[in-house]
Amino acid sequence: MGYRNSVKVPAVFLGHGNPMNALEHNRYTESWRSIASLAGSPRAVLVISAHWFVNLTAVTAMEQPRTIHDFSGFPVELSQVIYPAPGSPHIAAEVVEALSPLSCGLDTDSWGIDHGSWSLLVHMFPNADIPVLQLSIDATQPLEHHLALGHALSPLREQGIMVVASGNVVHNLAMIDWGAPGSGAPWAQEFDAQVRQLMTTAPGELGRAATFGAYGLAVPTPEHFLPLAYLAGLAAAEGATCRTLIEGCELGSLSMTSYLLD
Ligand code: ZN
Repeated sequence: MGYRNSVKVPAVFLGHGNPMNALEHNRYTESWRSIASLAGSPRAVLVISAHWFVNLTAVTAMEQPRTIHDFSGFPVELSQVIYPAPGSPHIAAEVVEALSPLSCGLDTDSWGIDHGSWSLLVHMFPNADIPVLQLSIDATQPLEHHLALGHALSPLREQGIMVVASGNVVHNLAMIDWGAPGSGAPWAQEFDAQVRQLMTTAPGELGRAATFGAYGLAVPTPEHFLPLAYLAGLAAAEGATCRTLIEGCELGSLSMTSYLLD
């Protein structure tokens, strides 16, 4: 492989929130930029995005992944964003090997780079010169399985691969309050704080989040929460805890809180 970092490449969970963050500059996008500069020039970025939620685990393995505009109802500028980073079939094979014996397919022609990825990457690596791979989230599996996959990704940190999990700890679009920029409903703040307590003290116990009173409101569907399990699993594999990179709620029912494993 020929690559050994003296320092492990950081791994993160980033709250991506509104897709318009791709075009905006705010304290969240600043934090994404700062974390990328901390990472230097990784060999590749492996993104676990809430928006590739399918019935198996697979990793993109094309030379040139396409930019996917998987949303509607946003300004045309957002549909025109192209993130032309290369892929890497070779590194995809390394990911499959790291995850074995857990099953991971190679996707050569289906997915690409979705907005859960590129809305972050345009800020993190604006030159789009670092290979990007995505790992799908298997919707048929419980949280413990996603923790185990995160655990298995741990050796990749020493091989120069930056793991970026992209979702939102609190994500309830039905309860969005457009009159509440920069704030969260009491239940959203409560759940966000309870999860922060787990991530910063005992990330391997993330499954306990399902017992918190606001879980049903905060996680009405699992796809935006599950990326967090990958970072929690990575941290647990190393006997480490995560640091809060930035915290905050938006529009009442979104948490933008992000975590770092350095
Ligand atoms: Zn999203």
